[in-house]
Amino acid sequence: MSSKKAKDDAPMVTSKEGASTAPDAHHTRHNLFDVVTQQLARGAAAINLDPDINTIVSQPKNELIIHFPVRLKSGEVRMFKGYRVQHNNILGPYKGGIRYHQDVYLDECKALASWMTWKCALAGLPYGGGKGGVKFNPKDYSHDDLERITRRFTHALGTNIGPEYDIPAPDMGTNSQTMDWMMDTYVNINAAVDRQAVKRVVTGKSIACGGSQGRDGATGQGVVYCIQEWAHSKRFTLDGSTLAVQGFGNVGSHTARILSRMGVTLTAVGDHTGYYFNAEGFNPHKLAEHNKKNHSLDGYPGGRRISREEFFALEVDILVPAALELQIGLDEAKEIRAKVVVEGANGPTDLDGDRILGERGIDVIPDILANSGGVIVSYFEWLQNKRSESWDADEVQQRLERKMRRNYQSVMDKARDLKCDARTASYAIALERLSEVYRARGIWP
Ligand code: NAD
Repeated sequence: MSSKKAKDDAPMVTSKEGASTAPDAHHTRHNLFDVVTQQLARGAAAINLDPDINTIVSQPKNELIIHFPVRLKSGEVRMFKGYRVQHNNILGPYKGGIRYHQDVYLDECKALASWMTWKCALAGLPYGGGKGGVKFNPKDYSHDDLERITRRFTHALGTNIGPEYDIPAPDMGTNSQTMDWMMDTYVNINAAVDRQAVKRVVTGKSIACGGSQGRDGATGQGVVYCIQEWAHSKRFTLDGSTLAVQGFGNVGSHTARILSRMGVTLTAVGDHTGYYFNAEGFNPHKLAEHNKKNHSLDGYPGGRRISREEFFALEVDILVPAALELQIGLDEAKEIRAKVVVEGANGPTDLDGDRILGERGIDVIPDILANSGGVIVSYFEWLQNKRSESWDADEVQQRLERKMRRNYQSVMDKARDLKCDARTASYAIALERLSEVYRARGIWP
């Protein structure tokens, strides 16, 4: 609890727009929303995006900040700060995760909501982009208190979310249990509506509450399809290759477990407690069990501790940042020796990092492509709820695989056509899809 207090009280760095930057983002000199803005500029230039459309998509439509009181199990009433940013809904309802983390801040939500717009457009989903969160460390609270916080936050959001308007999902620090509570609260405060129909107000629910088979591992599975496509195009053999993963939560652990079945060895892994190396390779299944039980990798037998600097400089074939944003800056990018960086996390590479990796010829599979498996299966869940259907795991997997492989190829084709990197190509595809709708509907729908 003492560390929580120190974090909450930590001075915030102020960016040039006066928006705050997370104190944890000390590996970079960039504000997260600046990163998105610059990436957008590159994508827009690549396709000569209509300047009016550029102006519209350069800022979110809505930015909601809510302070809400929660009576904790101890009886104490504590105030929490929640966010929901709705970036764009020209393609469909806002869609995006809810994050519980002590460093959640407005510009982060703005950036993450923007990335959801590009990600959904690139994936060909009928969704726009949104993102939100609550600024607190969920590790400091009991299961009972997490339920109270989630229900009060959902209540405070009220009609700012909805099954045809804005559809949250899990993100860092939240999971299917969080979504079940959100769904249940939403259904109860909207008792007049069809209770079955509004289940799809959130995705990433447990199977019992209307979740989809395969949603839990979908983001990691999508990351793996990208890695397979990359390996195929480079004539690189995955069997016998090595992997380093930063962040061993939902995305990182599923990625490592699925890759292990293809003969890929996890030699390095890191989380909020530190970084660990094992030349023989970690067993990702046992590591995941340990992580589930202890809520961290700390204390796992086997392997030795290394520094964060050593982790990024390791000789591995594949590096998957799957923790936080802004982790690969100038210093890290200069040291990375992996052949490919696959962005499981959103925005893990800052502008300097991206430039240096490009100059050094290290391939980067960008976040809006690499980690889109999660929102794709979220869409499948939403569709199943809407149609009162329940697809089996094979059907979900096949649909996901088809979409991911096709999207990967479209990005690489576009990169070849435009002679640009994969990130710019991903933006180009997303922006072309948005432009087509703006042009057809008129710019002021
Ligand atoms: P999670 O909460 O399940 O796991 C996060 C992991 O990151 C944990 O292992 C945690 O210890 C580690 N971590 C936290 N702070 C760290 C630090 N300072 N240094 C090193 N490691 C740290 O979260 P997740 O759902 O796996 O999400 C991870 C990333 O992937 C986020 O950027 C999220 O936005 C993105 N993402 C998640 C999904 C999804 O379906 N869960 C989909 C798309 C993108």
